[in-house]
Amino acid sequence: MNVDPLSLNHILGVDTLQIPVPGGDCAIILLVDKPPMRKRKDGEPNVSYHKSGHQTENIEDGKRGTVLRAILVDGGHDARGPGYHGREASTKIWNTLQGIESNYNIANYPGHEGLKFDAWIVTHWDRDHYCGALQLFWSTLRENEAGVLDSPFVRYDGNGNALTTLYCPTWTRYQVPGSTKFARGHHPFLDSETDVDGVTRWRIRLPPPNGPKGLLSYTDTEYGNMPFSGFFGTVVEKSPQLLGLDFFTGFRLQGDTPLYGEDQAGYRIHGVRDAFSRAYASSPPTYGLPTYGLDLDDKWDAKYPVLLCVGAEGNVMGCARKNITHATGDNYVSIMMLLIWLPRKTNAWHVSLFAGGDAHMETENQVVDFLEGRTVEVIKAGHHGARTSTSARLLKRLQPNKFIVSAGHEHGHPSKCLSVFLGPLNNRLLIAPSFRLASAVLLDSILPFPLP
Ligand SMILES: [Zn+2]
Repeated sequence: MNVDPLSLNHILGVDTLQIPVPGGDCAIILLVDKPPMRKRKDGEPNVSYHKSGHQTENIEDGKRGTVLRAILVDGGHDARGPGYHGREASTKIWNTLQGIESNYNIANYPGHEGLKFDAWIVTHWDRDHYCGALQLFWSTLRENEAGVLDSPFVRYDGNGNALTTLYCPTWTRYQVPGSTKFARGHHPFLDSETDVDGVTRWRIRLPPPNGPKGLLSYTDTEYGNMPFSGFFGTVVEKSPQLLGLDFFTGFRLQGDTPLYGEDQAGYRIHGVRDAFSRAYASSPPTYGLPTYGLDLDDKWDAKYPVLLCVGAEGNVMGCARKNITHATGDNYVSIMMLLIWLPRKTNAWHVSLFAGGDAHMETENQVVDFLEGRTVEVIKAGHHGARTSTSARLLKRLQPNKFIVSAGHEHGHPSKCLSVFLGPLNNRLLIAPSFRLASAVLLDSILPFPLP
């Protein structure tokens, strides 16, 4: 159901849905107005999971709140041997979208219906991170009044301009700076055009519905001769544009010196928290709505969640650059993110999520340095739980309450090494090889504020 943006409650929560794609990784992160809230039980870790369905406690209208922002992270694939397949994965994403639309209200512009993605983050261009999403965009295209094919999941402004930003480490294949490695760019099914101002917009190619090849299996030349959809939004790539960015608002911290590349304490977690607190105190985020500020009763310690891009291209905020020789170029450049909660009045800030794509453990360990001793409530295992990610140091220092593994059924993930290490932590952990789940796992919005 669509909700008038002016009638919202101005209390924020974040729900993360881990989608059970057959292989790879796919999640949807929702910024939610007035999520269900309740007191924490004694000894209850501060994050909880729900398999599908929704929490029934304290829900007034049967909804888990109103979605303000929806971010698609990666897109999974079908894990059917070689090649590019996304049909099954797209069905899983579709089912999750249906679940979101029935369990949440959606804040939309008048005349717009259903869930829209504000952003698509492709952590890196390995096939297990995007095929399902591409299949979904293609299979749901529809013709608008101007005769252009657009997407029901892309957000458009009142003038038909597409607003779904695609974030990725690199848009085209390149040699990773300071390294001998190469990282792939986008699949040729995707297309782009750069205008005179240097703004790049993305769209998709239109292979025939019953063509001679699979949707994602044509050559560069064959795609090059195909028509394309309307534009979906801008492309944002590379460290200078990514690091220090809040994916919920598009606001990016900037400093007198680069935010990464050498050891700079000011650009680690404490400095970053202070900088965002200052920025958002003087100019509260509106989350794309006509008016939206946190304007709450004094009993609430309102918090702005910041979905921070902390790393990309092997660079981590506030840290000296390290070249990792034993990771693939594609994995090395993965986008890494942290969900940080800024308090309004108290010092009770915390970090509730770390997800680092398929980055190597040595790059992840720089995020440990960035965090300056702060713990993180939930960690998504790096590289689907492979033994080259998620080091013992990371687990010891971050002390997660919950742990999620997007294992699918490929490559023997999660590794025995990781499973053994996590075994004793048992009830704090959620190892969720995606193929075992019929529907998405909901990583509950942490009680966003202490209840009185
Ligand atoms: Zn992967």
